[in-house]
Amino acid sequence: MFKGIGASPGIAIGTALVYTRPEPELPTHTLDPDDVAREMYRLSSSISEARAQVNAIRMRTEAQLGTEQGAIFQTQLTILEDPILLGEITALIKEEYLPAELAVKQVTDRYIALLKGTGDEVIGERWADVADVGRRVINNLLGIRRIPLATMAHEAIVVAPDLTPSDTAQLPRDKVLAFVTEHGGRTSHSAIMARSLEIPAVVGVGNILTRVKTGDNLVVDGDEGLVLINPEILTLEKYKKRLTQLRLANQELKNLRDLPAITKDGYRMELGANIGTPEEVEGALAYGAVVIGLYRTEFLYLGRPDMPGEEEQVAVYTGVVERMKGRPVVFRTLDIGGDKPLPDLSSGGEVNPFLGWRGIRLSLDRKDIFKTQLRAFLRAGAAGPVRIMFPLVVGLQEYREAKEILVQVREELAAQGLAFDPHIPVGIMVETPAAAVITDLLAREVDFFSIGTNDLTQYTLAVDRTNEQVAHLYDHYHPAVLRLIEQVAKGAAKEKKKVSICGEMAGDPIAVPLLMGLGLRELSMAPGAIPRVKQVIRSLTAEDARKLAGEVLGLKEPMAVREKLAAKVRVPDKEK
Ligand code: PEP
Ligand code: MG
Repeated sequence: MFKGIGASPGIAIGTALVYTRPEPELPTHTLDPDDVAREMYRLSSSISEARAQVNAIRMRTEAQLGTEQGAIFQTQLTILEDPILLGEITALIKEEYLPAELAVKQVTDRYIALLKGTGDEVIGERWADVADVGRRVINNLLGIRRIPLATMAHEAIVVAPDLTPSDTAQLPRDKVLAFVTEHGGRTSHSAIMARSLEIPAVVGVGNILTRVKTGDNLVVDGDEGLVLINPEILTLEKYKKRLTQLRLANQELKNLRDLPAITKDGYRMELGANIGTPEEVEGALAYGAVVIGLYRTEFLYLGRPDMPGEEEQVAVYTGVVERMKGRPVVFRTLDIGGDKPLPDLSSGGEVNPFLGWRGIRLSLDRKDIFKTQLRAFLRAGAAGPVRIMFPLVVGLQEYREAKEILVQVREELAAQGLAFDPHIPVGIMVETPAAAVITDLLAREVDFFSIGTNDLTQYTLAVDRTNEQVAHLYDHYHPAVLRLIEQVAKGAAKEKKKVSICGEMAGDPIAVPLLMGLGLRELSMAPGAIPRVKQVIRSLTAEDARKLAGEVLGLKEPMAVREKLAAKVRVPDKEK
């Protein structure tokens, strides 16, 4: 049994297809100075060829998975046109007389090492794009045509040292049961794509290729990050049973889509989806979301050299609003910083980025970016119900300042005679203990609250949400976090302001009766979590939930809270 990182959930049972890529043999000689012009021609033809190939993959990916996934290949096109990178390659050919293959390899290797060395998980993963592009150009120079995975003859579990984004994009959905790689992390493009394709995946399984060969029987458990090679018959039977159960359970949950999230005694909850791209609206609706409770706008800004302009933003946000067909969309203003740095913007070099220049702080300092985004939200409001919320607010002053800018923007739009919604509700995320403790003060001014338990937990417990070493201390069932949630619910209720919750806790089935019992009526979560949460709501009464919440708030330890809640909500056993 091998343990890696569960990058995409689900179970797969099947035979292994080992996919390795022999390193191409590169020329070792230097060029005759007379051959430099010819070498430059070879280089530019291979790059043009690579551009056409990547563009074709981009279009295919966009058609199958949407523009967001296709954008990954836009990054590769940008690399292929990068003047600095190309200048360095050209210099090696013209000045050092290196053959094009070697020049490309040397330059891309250097960039790969640089990216890997940033220590930043998200930026660091982009080395895969440089490697993918470099390998493609070299293969074109050498006339190597790889047999792409797209031509797989039968169903299999692909095991590889790593999969480039182009490999992953070409995986035939009907043949690849799962994939396992020795390298890569949860945020690598291949992992992101696996989740979109709903293919179970385990990544970062060091050295698995020394033990597995094509034809071996494999079990891949994408939930637990496990890979079993030629398991015993009893283990295999257990996994087969679990796979059948999962399929049945999924079907049962899908059947819940059109039923309301209502308790046995008629208390109605609103279940929403957290998304970050227009393409995800379809999935959100398919799982039964009645609101987009959190639209993370960061994705529009990440992975590109420029800032999205107003018209582009209006088009994207309007697209989301239109696809929701009259159901509300809560747009969060740019939440860059912390674990989501934007190279051009985030100040870099902060000792404590989570306590630094992020969220609303950054927007208030960069009013140009902030105003453009607010204008786009207001204009998208002309297409349907929109709400705006600010991240990482700690006090009234920030809210007032942000609101003032919004009022200004509204006046400007009116003066310009552009269509917009002047009555968009404006709320804040409660992600800091400070905001939670002064909810009563904030409630007099804000229109609504949305509790971001991901950050609220990290700031309350002083546990960096991205630090594995202290991950065991990160627990949203800590009594301190629960008391803060209760305080927010009470503070908002006094002013009759709505409170929702959009952190991961909202999608945790055992948290549902507690959150309901505390008075929350809207839960927003990853779309796939909605059916199970709805099932829990439909099995409860509001009275039970209130009683349970009261009892849980009296408990002293997170573990006791979990046990109490799990006993109330029977989570189907995974039967390991
Ligand atoms: C949160 O902090 O709970 C939240 C929803 O925001 P994000 O995860 O994007 O920081
Ligand atoms: Mg947050």
